[in-house]
Amino acid sequence: MGYLSTDKVKHHFHDVVIIGSGGAGMRCALQLADAGFRVAVVTKVLPTRSHTVAAQGGINAALGNVTSDHWLWHMYDTVKGSDYLGDQDAIEYMCRAAPLLVRELEHQGVPFSRLDDGTIYQRPFGGQSRELGEGGQASRTCAAADRTGHAILHTLYQQNLRAGTQFFQEYFALDLITDSGGCQGVMAWDIAAGAYHLFQAKAVVLATGGAGRIFKVTTNAHICTGDGGALAVRAGLPIEDMEFFQFHPTGIADVGPLITEGVRGEGGYLLNSEGERFMERYAPTARDLASRDVVSRAIAMEIREGRGCGPKRDHVLLKLDHLGEELILSKLPNIHELALRFAGVDCIHEPIPVQPTMHYTMGGVPTNRFGEVVVKGAGGQEQSFGGLYAIGEGACVSVHGANRLGGNSLLEIVVFGRACGNQIIKQLKQQPYHAPLARECWQGGVQRVEHWLERAGSQDGPRVAELRTRMQTVMQDHFSVYRTEAVMEEGIQLLEALAAELPHAVLSDACRIFNTELVEALELENLMALARITAAGALARRESRGAHARDDYPERDDVLWLKHTLGSIHDGRVGLDYKPVRLQPMTVESFPPKKRVY
Ligand SMILES: Cc1cc2nc3c(=O)[nH]c(=O)nc-3n(C[C@H](O)[C@H](O)[C@H](O)COP(=O)(O)OP(=O)(O)OC[C@H]3O[C@@H](n4cnc5c(N)ncnc54)[C@H](O)[C@@H]3O)c2cc1C
Repeated sequence: MGYLSTDKVKHHFHDVVIIGSGGAGMRCALQLADAGFRVAVVTKVLPTRSHTVAAQGGINAALGNVTSDHWLWHMYDTVKGSDYLGDQDAIEYMCRAAPLLVRELEHQGVPFSRLDDGTIYQRPFGGQSRELGEGGQASRTCAAADRTGHAILHTLYQQNLRAGTQFFQEYFALDLITDSGGCQGVMAWDIAAGAYHLFQAKAVVLATGGAGRIFKVTTNAHICTGDGGALAVRAGLPIEDMEFFQFHPTGIADVGPLITEGVRGEGGYLLNSEGERFMERYAPTARDLASRDVVSRAIAMEIREGRGCGPKRDHVLLKLDHLGEELILSKLPNIHELALRFAGVDCIHEPIPVQPTMHYTMGGVPTNRFGEVVVKGAGGQEQSFGGLYAIGEGACVSVHGANRLGGNSLLEIVVFGRACGNQIIKQLKQQPYHAPLARECWQGGVQRVEHWLERAGSQDGPRVAELRTRMQTVMQDHFSVYRTEAVMEEGIQLLEALAAELPHAVLSDACRIFNTELVEALELENLMALARITAAGALARRESRGAHARDDYPERDDVLWLKHTLGSIHDGRVGLDYKPVRLQPMTVESFPPKKRVY
């Protein structure tokens, strides 16, 4: 017997349903709506509250407005930044498409900052070089002051309203409807009304963003709970490279909000307790603009060796007062406000206390460069999983490999949002009808919600919020900037115990209408699945590469570990598998792995 009859589940038909209204989901929706398809965007928050809105520094494209530039140099930097784990065909595609996509955003209405000659303003960001690393720093990051994501997201939302995309906001995606042949839809919960909806579609796109909230201190919004990856895992699919989480060097100490790399791009720099510009020791050429994993490790090392600042010696200082009030208020107004609010510091006069903070999820649902979700077929060959697509931070295409360069993520979401839209248009031309659904296919999603509502009011178990804090603390303490075998093993034991406790957790709110505690419980199930896969992948990977830095294996090992991790959960147990890195680009010669110095 099921919990409900079908008349309690509202059934919708669309050509395409996109889960997520961040930049990736919006760009994909626009491509499809403009082509005349019936597109639904299901999103758990108001569309413009997606995390893309928080992006500050900008979006990369080799426009060459400030320094000379070329997409091939951008590609070289991205491959090197990825510590050679990025798939070079996807990287070539992204870097080539970048100038077109950024100009398109400009024409759609994004109010980019301007140079005196009227062209788009570009600032230098970490890991950007000219002439394949030989020509010094490039300025490649196109910016709308320090609110670039806000400008892009609002523009794409307006364009979607014009194009007729249908939004289902404050709807929580619960479960994918899949069978061995592919994906036919998604079950969702209308948070405000407390009702079930079944979205049947010819194509389903996961555009659900990152999973930063598996850690305690993060720059990510509370909604970044990796739901798309968890939906895939629950459907029996693997997710890729989850051990790679980027720590941004400059989160505001203790609290986490991001201070953009743009501050260092504009000339700000880091100081330790001795007043020393310590990055000169770690990256003699690029200094404060070395790539993020390098700067984060340098800060962690300074703190570890006792040169941290403040009473607890647990952070360093980001100095920018020398840039002057005019530049700070025109190019970095948001930073000025964030520092004032969260650190009580007026950065026109004083440095900002900063520490490495979890920032970006490099791993996600594995796809090819057309946004199609890929799985290993019978003969070990990669094949697409019919009708299911993934884009944006929740996907792993993989252009960032082991470490993302700043400014490449806003780029990724528009480039692959569009590419995925185009691929779906091809699919829909060949497939005019909806695939039939299995009977009672909606039961899985319903059971998840009803389980939690039944747990409401019970005294017999830990609170959801308490379990979440414990999980985030384990991740923070055991899988942070530096990792070692024994510490991670202990972390896995703690995590597995927490995962076993989770079904017995309790809610205090039994209401169906706008029950945010219920949503948090559903999100915690998702976070827990991803945390377990992250932990297992990190312990297994016995090397240091990009954001995954091990004290016990300090070197990169291309013989054994130049491969992607695939993590899944079957019968409650985490399993790991691997697949090769695509080293062959589309048209140019491959950049073979070499030592990474900045
Ligand atoms: C503070 C900050 C600053 C950044 N600055 C930059 C920058 O300057 N340059 C750069 O390139 N990158 C930057 N990034 C990274 C970049 O912003 C993100 O990677 C990118 O915007 C992610 O876009 P997205 O569309 O994949 O996901 P998001 O924008 O995170 O959107 C995810 C969407 O999925 C929906 N969703 C999730 N789960 C569910 C569910 N279960 N049901 C229904 N809907 C769901 C959400 O409602 C949301 O609409 C920054 C990130 C942060 C956190």
